[in-house]
Amino acid sequence: MKKGFVSIIIPSYNEASNIKLIYESLRNEFQSIEYDYEIYYINDGSTDQTLEEIKNLAEKNERVKYISFSRNFGKEAAILAGFQHARGDAVVVMDADLQHPTYLLHDFIKGFEEGYDQVIAQRNRKGDNPIRSYLSSLYYRFINKAVEVDLRDGVGDFRLLSRKAVNALLKLSEGNRFSKGLFCWIGFDQKIIYYENVERKNGKSKWSFRHLLNYGIDGIVSFNNRPLRICFYTGIFILFLSLIYIIATFIRILKYGVIVPGYFTIISAVLFLGGVQLLSLGIIGEYIGRIYYETKKRPHYLIQEANIGHGEAHEKNES
Ligand code: UDP
Ligand code: MG
Repeated sequence: MKKGFVSIIIPSYNEASNIKLIYESLRNEFQSIEYDYEIYYINDGSTDQTLEEIKNLAEKNERVKYISFSRNFGKEAAILAGFQHARGDAVVVMDADLQHPTYLLHDFIKGFEEGYDQVIAQRNRKGDNPIRSYLSSLYYRFINKAVEVDLRDGVGDFRLLSRKAVNALLKLSEGNRFSKGLFCWIGFDQKIIYYENVERKNGKSKWSFRHLLNYGIDGIVSFNNRPLRICFYTGIFILFLSLIYIIATFIRILKYGVIVPGYFTIISAVLFLGGVQLLSLGIIGEYIGRIYYETKKRPHYLIQEANIGHGEAHEKNES
């Protein structure tokens, strides 16, 4: 008699060389875990043989489920699709690229049995590009001052969530899903497990520097309105300074009459204020852009095919 049921969600985008490896690795681990399981591959519009690899596995093994998107909708959408379909008492999210060691499942399950709703894996940065890790650590130091949720360096989507936590996440309906932040936002009892960073062996990372930068901005803007407030305070501060300057200049004019040279002050004031205004507009624009996308209420993804019962896939397509 199994103790319960675990769903593993694996977002996969051009991971043909990894699909089978991760499956085998998971199957090995589950030989010594007293839980039944299903593995949900979410094919996020891959352009290589990923889907064929998944289908091959699914034909041979009923524990393998898949959902295949009509195009690339991004990892966040893939994770959401997994949550919406997974039936487990506990749900694990992990990457396809074997960077998330499957032996941690034992610790995940242990934490789950201890009653934690989130068991979170935190990696160190061994083997990472040093510039990238330095920028990341700077980013996290900054973001934790700026946002209301507590984001940790080295913590990603790799974690186990209880049914309760998954249901809570499903209630958050926003279109722009910054899942790192959402995971923190829902709270519940959490346990952190540390592990040694593993480098990717097959295929390549989909995160270019530009992607990371965009992701970083998402992180800041998705979780608070503090940037707007910073604009506000900067505005007040500059207004205050200019008032002092205007009064001082005015008094000087009263005392000594008009002195023509003033090129430097004028130009610096214009440039500085112009910069501040553009920056503030940009920040406001970020928020308005988000409102624009949210009001459209488009589905997060479209399913092209799936082996989870036709009706269900169809229904999701319609919504
Ligand atoms: N991924 C995805 N959709 C995307 C990009 C990535 O489903 O648009 C998946 C990818 O297949 C992998 C996981 O997300 O399983 C993490 O991606 P990657 O390894 O490229 O990120 P990194 O580990 O470098 O941060
Ligand atoms: Mg990776």
